[in-house]
Amino acid sequence: MDQAPEPPARSGSGAALGLLMAQMYQRSSGRGWRLRQRSLALLQEWQGLLAEAGQPVELRRGLLLLASGADEWQRQQRLGSQRQAKGFPLELRSRSDLQAAVAQGALPELPQGVEGGLWSPQDGQLDPGAWAAALGAAAIQRGLREISGRVTALRPPPPGDPQAQWQLDLADGSQLSGDWVLVCAGLASPSLLEPLGIELPLEAVLGQAVELQLALPLAPGQDPWAGCLVWQGVNLVPRPGGRLWLGASLEPGTKADPEALKTLLSLGGTAPAWLRNAELVSHWQGLRCRPVGRPAPLLEQPLPRLLLLSGHYRNGILLGPASAEWAAQRIADAMATTGQSYRPT
Ligand SMILES: Cc1cc2nc3c(=O)[nH]c(=O)nc-3n(C[C@H](O)[C@H](O)[C@H](O)COP(=O)(O)OP(=O)(O)OC[C@H]3O[C@@H](n4cnc5c(N)ncnc54)[C@H](O)[C@@H]3O)c2cc1C
Repeated sequence: MDQAPEPPARSGSGAALGLLMAQMYQRSSGRGWRLRQRSLALLQEWQGLLAEAGQPVELRRGLLLLASGADEWQRQQRLGSQRQAKGFPLELRSRSDLQAAVAQGALPELPQGVEGGLWSPQDGQLDPGAWAAALGAAAIQRGLREISGRVTALRPPPPGDPQAQWQLDLADGSQLSGDWVLVCAGLASPSLLEPLGIELPLEAVLGQAVELQLALPLAPGQDPWAGCLVWQGVNLVPRPGGRLWLGASLEPGTKADPEALKTLLSLGGTAPAWLRNAELVSHWQGLRCRPVGRPAPLLEQPLPRLLLLSGHYRNGILLGPASAEWAAQRIADAMATTGQSYRPT
């Protein structure tokens, strides 16, 4: 496999693989659990609305989380039984079940050392680029005005005047005004909030990912499998045309380590032959935004009519819909209290 010299950097959302891990989440309660379940439901609802708006996006259902040792397999068995008892359709797959699926061509040869797996038919994956493009196009059809530009300063409305608006300075020297400001600028969010006296500790965690071309068929008569595979934190996402997304590395900081790429491509030395022999098509990197000392994500109202939606770390694609709903609800609640009418800008 050839290696690209320097991976191009993308925004967090542009680098993401789009895995949607909700029902397989390790915890069974709390804000993280609720946001994930709500997002999964909203994703389905939004997918229907996008299709009605002429912007269909595929939501690939099914995630198979592979266990790489006896301890992980035991944890999966516990999680599977707990979720089944609560009515979630998670299914356990023993090592012999997986071997049979490989023999039947339903799965490719698996990484060395697989002990078992947990199949979640309702979790899944979507293409984050296609999703963002469809959401943007549908929102514009509904009246959204898109203005591209870098915000350099946020100027709060004078206190005590509920009719006064926020002012935003843009890098090209222009200004915008609005009743509400939603800050969702990823790792740039702290520098926008700091002049307002709001401290926001966030740190970067870099991820490298690749697209590979597989030599098909992987085995006689075998097409790429249904669903996505997750192995030791690495996602294997089948793509059209026999391609595969593989990622992502977890590297604290902003500098990509070539060794982390090698580990990714070889699955830490466990990659089966079909993966080792795949051709590298593209390689990229992106920065995840992790809150320091607080759980992800950060959904907060630091000042009147100012909302922060950031720090989604490894799950911003999944958590986008529930985060947006949270913001919409805060605005609707505030407007209901003050009797204000909505004035989109
Ligand atoms: C390699 C990788 C793989 C991932 N895989 C998954 C996954 O499988 N599933 C999942 O759910 N999540 C995944 N994530 C995480 C997910 O991508 C992020 O949580 C999510 O994209 C964060 O979205 P965001 O909009 O907050 O930030 P970003 O996508 O980083 O967007 C921030 C935006 O703010 C803009 N901006 C910055 N400064 C300013 C300014 N001053 N004025 C105006 N605009 C500004 C930027 O241009 C950018 O468009 C992955 C991340 C990486 C890096």
